[in-house]
Amino acid sequence: MMGEGKVKKIKRAANIVQYLYNEYPDSKCSLNYKSAHQLLVATILSAQCTDHRVNIVTNDLFLKYKKPSDFAYCKITDLAKDIHSCGYYNQKSKSIQGASLKIVEEHNGVVPDSMKELIKLPGVGRKTANCILGEYYGQPTMVIDTHMVRIMNLLDFTKSKDPKKIELELMDIFDKKDWVKLTHMIIDHGRAVCIARRPKCINCVLSPYCPSVIN
Ligand code: SF4
Repeated sequence: MMGEGKVKKIKRAANIVQYLYNEYPDSKCSLNYKSAHQLLVATILSAQCTDHRVNIVTNDLFLKYKKPSDFAYCKITDLAKDIHSCGYYNQKSKSIQGASLKIVEEHNGVVPDSMKELIKLPGVGRKTANCILGEYYGQPTMVIDTHMVRIMNLLDFTKSKDPKKIELELMDIFDKKDWVKLTHMIIDHGRAVCIARRPKCINCVLSPYCPSVIN
């Protein structure tokens, strides 16, 4: 908002979070998983693919590949075939196998719980690492996906499209305790109301706090 100082911005952010909690009390990660490693695999598969499709694929995948070593030492062409419908299957199978191998051989089969180690795994960037840390290890992190980039720009909490820059800016404005859930609520809001290129501002609970509202 024009001329808005940091104190006002923090207050507006707190109000927005409250409205989001009321509107989306059940928001959560929509990927199915039972372990940190399964979440890692599902997150790698989710790039350029819907969570719904990933869940269909992992339903069978996790029956066939039960532990990290099953992914680490499988025949990569079989893995590529098993994840085919998620798209980018060659790259994704390489990432899953490479990350699993490193986890088995360098981390005793345990997915690391630090950003520093996670981003050393093949195919794991800051977004995937933040997802594992926040979702599985309960650390305060923020995942900046396309909905977060778009809606946080509309809400004027950033003017950047760079996820890392946005992450740092938002951490300065939003309360730590809300970070993990904020992403899930914004994703739900982006799917239901603040839809790309056709936002339903008239039905939006955030409209009093949104400088981009279209009346
Ligand atoms: S008021 Fe409109 S642009 Fe702003 S968050 Fe709501 S739907 Fe999106």
